[in-house]
Amino acid sequence: MSGPGPNASRYFDNASTTPLDPRVLEAMLPYLKEEFGNANSIHSFGSAAQHAVERAREQVAEAFGLEPQQIFFTSGATESNNWVLRSFKTGIVTAVEHSSVREPALRAGFRICDLHPGDLSLVPPGDQFEVQSVMAVNNELGTQWRPSEDIGGIRKHCDATQALGKIDLSGLGVDFMSASSHKVYGPKGVGVLSAAAPIEPLLVGGEHEHGLRAGTLNVPGIVGFGHACSLLKEEREKGFVFADELRQIVLECITPLSDWRVNGQLPGRDFVPHVLSISFLGLEGESLVVEADNAGFAISAGAACSSRSTEPSHVLLAIGLPDEYIRGTVRISFGRFNTLDAAHNLGKVLVKAVERLRTYKN
Ligand code: PMP
Repeated sequence: MSGPGPNASRYFDNASTTPLDPRVLEAMLPYLKEEFGNANSIHSFGSAAQHAVERAREQVAEAFGLEPQQIFFTSGATESNNWVLRSFKTGIVTAVEHSSVREPALRAGFRICDLHPGDLSLVPPGDQFEVQSVMAVNNELGTQWRPSEDIGGIRKHCDATQALGKIDLSGLGVDFMSASSHKVYGPKGVGVLSAAAPIEPLLVGGEHEHGLRAGTLNVPGIVGFGHACSLLKEEREKGFVFADELRQIVLECITPLSDWRVNGQLPGRDFVPHVLSISFLGLEGESLVVEADNAGFAISAGAACSSRSTEPSHVLLAIGLPDEYIRGTVRISFGRFNTLDAAHNLGKVLVKAVERLRTYKN
């Protein structure tokens, strides 16, 4: 089975999406070909599909350390996040959430809590909210957050999209968790909401997903997501060590450069090595992305969902990064199909590109 191809080694934008693992593709293929049944049909075509979906549900549940009946398949983390955030009238979310949490929260008039480095107290005493949403790993920085434990009687949601496959999510103690298959080497267009507490239906008009999310199931996608989750057991720890190696290589290469900083290593916060946010003074992050692309390397100037926006990143603003650093920020995100050689070469390309861009500017 062929893999994502040699170019994938130079793809350093794994936080935006990951290549499909060839083992996942193999698991999906029968459900794109002869096993085409509707998982809700009672004939044998349908029950073959249904069995595959239930197997995938178990695999996804295991990756979260949850029970299969707590797993609801969606089209991705954006849908899962919207589902939770739109189910409550009052809530509080951190200032560093992904736009698929932030936007519904803003529309509903939820509190966006100021997030000063190290400040974990989400809810001031006396304030009452129905739900809090705190992401586990930030997509722009790699920084880890944990739900606030000191608040009783409030539902807890965690956007675990960047955490799944990177850190252990069992025992997080939240009511709802969101994630997306394509961030863990599975197919795009499928995700999950785990629900350990009651929630209102998102889509009605069918019995699918216990009537909470009606609509014919994306069987090949769900099978792929399940298989991708089953691979995380052997890949997670290995992947952590590998990402750290790749990260060190890039950092060592750029050491001779002046005026740069790594973002997101906040006091008292852990971070995952898979996401490396670096700001270079005296250049535009987008120009560096283009220079790297011209040399065959994919990196990003921020979150893919807002990469065409000219607004400064709300995440970088929230951590208090000065404007001149925000402008020169790039995100390098490591994954399973990178190689040590490619990381070396990326480092060299970055050094040359930064020097060139700074010369043009002066
Ligand atoms: N939350 C986080 C933290 C993410 O990084 C992303 C994807 N960039 C999402 C939610 C949304 O995922 P999707 O686009 O697959 O719906």
